[in-house]
Amino acid sequence: SLTLGIVGLPNVGKSTLFNALTRNEAVAANYPFATIEPNVGVVPLPDARLDKLAEMFSSARTVPATVSFVDIAGLVKGASEGAGLGNQFLANIREANAICQVIRVFDDPDVVHVDGNVDPAGDIETINTELILADMQTLDKALPRMEKEARTKKENRPALDSAKQAREILDSGRTLFAAQNEIDLDAVRELSLLTTKPFLYVFNADEGVLRDQARREALTKLVAPADAVFLDAKVEAELLELDDEESVRELLESVGQSEPGLYSLARAGFHTLGLQTYLTAGPKEARAWTIRQGATAPEAAGAIHSDFQRGFIKAEVISYEELVEAGSLAAARSAGKMRMEGKDYVMHDGDVVEFRFNV
Ligand code: GDP
Repeated sequence: SLTLGIVGLPNVGKSTLFNALTRNEAVAANYPFATIEPNVGVVPLPDARLDKLAEMFSSARTVPATVSFVDIAGLVKGASEGAGLGNQFLANIREANAICQVIRVFDDPDVVHVDGNVDPAGDIETINTELILADMQTLDKALPRMEKEARTKKENRPALDSAKQAREILDSGRTLFAAQNEIDLDAVRELSLLTTKPFLYVFNADEGVLRDQARREALTKLVAPADAVFLDAKVEAELLELDDEESVRELLESVGQSEPGLYSLARAGFHTLGLQTYLTAGPKEARAWTIRQGATAPEAAGAIHSDFQRGFIKAEVISYEELVEAGSLAAARSAGKMRMEGKDYVMHDGDVVEFRFNV
C-alpha cells in the first residue's frame, strides 16, 4: 500500500506525533491479522458514511480505509552528503510515495529549536535543500550515461531532455513537484527523484497558533498548493488516553479544535497520495475500499480481490447521497437509481458498489 514518509528537523514533535499514530485501537481492532511494522503508523480515514450504511444494511461492523505513515528519523542538514545516517534516511524517503513534513510552530522555552528559533519557512527550505541536493547528485551520476544512450538510441532523447531540464529546475532552487507543469516527470520516473514526491505539511502548533486564524491562513498559503494540517502533537497523544467522548470534546475545545488532528491528517494524507474510496455494504460489514483517483471499475474490484478484477463483468453503482435519499438499496433499485457500469467506468469517491464477476 502507499505510504507517507514523516520527516522533519529534530525536536519538532515527530516522535510525539508518530507515537499517537501508532496507538490507534480502531485499526488494531479491524485488522487483527495485519502485520504492522514498528516504524509504520496506520490511521483510519474517518468516514461518517460507513455508520449510516451500517445502519441501513444492519452490518455487524464498519471497516474504514486506512492511511499509512512511515517514521523516517531525523533528516538533518548535510544528509545529502552522506553525513551520519544520511544515506539511509534518503533511501527510506525514496520508498515513500509522499512526504509528510512536520514543522514546529509551538513555543516552548524548554524545547530547543535546532536552528535557534521557530521558523517554518526556514525549516521547509532546509528539508527542500537536502532533497534538492540529493536529486542533483542522482542526476549528475545519471546524465553521462543518459547522454551516451541518447547518442545511439533516439528514443532515449526525451528522457535525457527531461533530465537536463530537471537539473535546471533544481539549480534554480525549486522542487520538481513544484515545477510539475513545466516538465514531463514520467520521462525521468526511473530515476526516482525525491523532489517529485507530493508533500504534505503538518504544523505542530500550540493553542495560540491553533486559535489564530490569520496565522493559520498565512502558513497554509506558505505551503500551497500542498495540504496543510494543524494539530498539537502533545494534545493528540493525550486524546488517545481518554476513553469517554465528553472528555475528548472538552480537551479539543480547550485548544479550539473541532475534531482530533489525526482525522484531518488522515484525510490530507489520503488526498496527498492521490487516493479515494468507494463503499460496499452488507450484513457482514460496511466498508470503505481504497483506490487511486481515476481508477476504473475493474481496478476498484481488484481492491477486494484480484479474481474480481480478472472476472469483472459489471458494477452496480449508486452514489452514497442517492442511496441515502432513496432510503434503501431495494428502494433505489425499484426507482431505477442503480446504474450498471462497464469496464471503462471511472469510479467516484463515495460510489456504493456491488460487483458482478465470473470466477
Ligand atoms: P522529534 O525530535 O521531532 O521526534 O521531536 P519529539 O517528538 O521528540 O519532541 C521534542 C520535544 O518537544 C519533546 O520534549 C516533546 O514533548 C515536545 N513536543 C512535541 N510536540 C509538542 C507540542 O505540540 N507542544 C509542546 N509544547 N511540546 C511538544
